Amino acid sequence: MKLSKMHVKTLREVPNEAEIASHILLLRAGMIKKLVSGVYGFMPLGWRSLRKIEEIIRQEMDAKGGQEILMSAVQPAELWMESGRWSKYGPELWRLKDRNGRDFCLGPTHEEIFTDVVRNDVSSHRQLPLNLYQIQTKYRDEARPRFGLMRSREFIMKDAYSFDKSYEDLDKSYQDMYDAYGEIFTRCGLTFRPVEADTGAIGGSNSHEFTALSEVGESEIAYCESCHMAATTEKALCADAVPSTEAQLPMEEVHTPNTKTIEDVANFLGLDQKQTLKALLFVTYDDEGEENGYVAAFIRGDRELNLIKLVNALNIPEHAIAFADENKMAAATDCVGGFTGPIGLHDCKIVVDSEIPGLKNLCAGACKTDYHLKNVNYGRDYQADIVADIKLLQAGDPCPVCGAAVKHARGIEVGQVFKLGTKYSEAMGAYYKDENQQDQLIVMGCYGIGVTRTLAAIVEQHHDENGIIWPMSVAPYQVVITLVNPEDEIQAEVAEHIYQQLLQARVEVLLDDRKERPGVKFKDADLLGIPVRVTVGRGAAQGQVEYKLRRESEKEEISTEEAIARAI
Ligand code: ATP
Ligand code: MG
Ligand code: MG
Ligand code: MG
Repeated sequence: MKLSKMHVKTLREVPNEAEIASHILLLRAGMIKKLVSGVYGFMPLGWRSLRKIEEIIRQEMDAKGGQEILMSAVQPAELWMESGRWSKYGPELWRLKDRNGRDFCLGPTHEEIFTDVVRNDVSSHRQLPLNLYQIQTKYRDEARPRFGLMRSREFIMKDAYSFDKSYEDLDKSYQDMYDAYGEIFTRCGLTFRPVEADTGAIGGSNSHEFTALSEVGESEIAYCESCHMAATTEKALCADAVPSTEAQLPMEEVHTPNTKTIEDVANFLGLDQKQTLKALLFVTYDDEGEENGYVAAFIRGDRELNLIKLVNALNIPEHAIAFADENKMAAATDCVGGFTGPIGLHDCKIVVDSEIPGLKNLCAGACKTDYHLKNVNYGRDYQADIVADIKLLQAGDPCPVCGAAVKHARGIEVGQVFKLGTKYSEAMGAYYKDENQQDQLIVMGCYGIGVTRTLAAIVEQHHDENGIIWPMSVAPYQVVITLVNPEDEIQAEVAEHIYQQLLQARVEVLLDDRKERPGVKFKDADLLGIPVRVTVGRGAAQGQVEYKLRRESEKEEISTEEAIARAI
């Protein structure tokens, strides 16, 4: 491609709204264009890099037996009602109505859609296992779209869904995807860590996030060099107790005549008040699924509790701080539940819709007479919904697994893998017939990669003060030939010769034949980040050109033919 003909507009100035390198550089290199907050378009160079990432993903997904399909972004509300997520998903879900008033949403993810496909198409055990994926545009009306492609409202995701006959088979499908993700992010040139993760709004039992290490990342991970514990900080907090169903007691209602304060609850539960406590905060919902408040819950911990510090760390709104200050929390040690805010104390329903993995036989309840349950267990008696960000495990704290000092790192969540189990197949009736013609629930997993976010993460890890430094695998072009003086016949001829040779060898090559000053061309070449630069200048008359890698500062004078040979 000749740059003189190419639709690319680079910017000298840093765009106002851009704060981080990837956002600034992708805009300045003319690779992406903002339409409105959190919505971007891709210009030729940006789109080429994005397609390279997609191709890597396709190859690795296909290598594991994945089959690509493409489903619509428009999803009927009925399917979301079947799964129960229509009311639970919250304001991130981009809802719309058609002219007849029928409800739809723009898909933030596609569990319902893929489950629907498979429940209709799959009937026999012979059709399983199955891994279907798509590379498709997702919509999430993020509260704070920012950092360009990092957190946008429209973005491209690769989402895959596995369908298996059993949990053992799911383990295999999950491992395949885990391995594929390792290959994908390595081939994209990313430095990353797979870490254990919370299962969040999607639910399920087992999950890893793939985190590209970066100071500007919004994810915080804790890892241990002594025992290979690596988890999001939320997950790491709870990693000390692995849930086991063995020790679970039958759930029972308990009589709680007076549970106005922490002491009341602790007393009737027979708990030791002197034990220090940790607190967690959960969002609660009413019958319509609307957020109606917050529940503060304490779990037993061995850390000194500084309530206000904790409240700040958890981002608890002020009305909840008031409760905490007055020591009016209804839930105490080993409890899930408590007051809701801001409405008051007595209109609170029992809310146990949050996951604290590893804690068994919890007490759930509210500040209301006879409103308590004992021996409540996650998974059996309640499901996870939304867990507030908990960032309690600090660098230097003892590792919850082995006790060594943990380290902290920041990163960008570029992908996540989940074992869903039968959550969706149960809710939506996705069955297969086994060898004995018995109906069995299909066991599912889901696996996402933020394709556009991955592009941004690559730039975040590969740039310098002059611009992007693309890894070869995802570079929009591999070579740029900078023609210093297009008016000089010899230079123009040599540049054209190299260009044609490289084209013939199927090298992706750009020829900067613009009538611009050399300084402008060099600046642009650096900004665009093409890995190999061949500069055709005065030496051309003697058959010499300059060969330089974007990643390195040395330049070499070599012969035209040698330059061609190296670039191929
Ligand atoms: P985050 O924690 O950053 O909000 P998520 O956990 O909500 O992400 P998932 O539901 O796991 O995201 O979606 C799969 C992948 O899609 C994520 O790992 C991430 O790479 C990407 N992704 C999610 N939200 C966005 C967004 N708003 N903009 C760009 N990519 C996103
Ligand atoms: Mg999110
Ligand atoms: Mg996340
Ligand atoms: Mg995620």
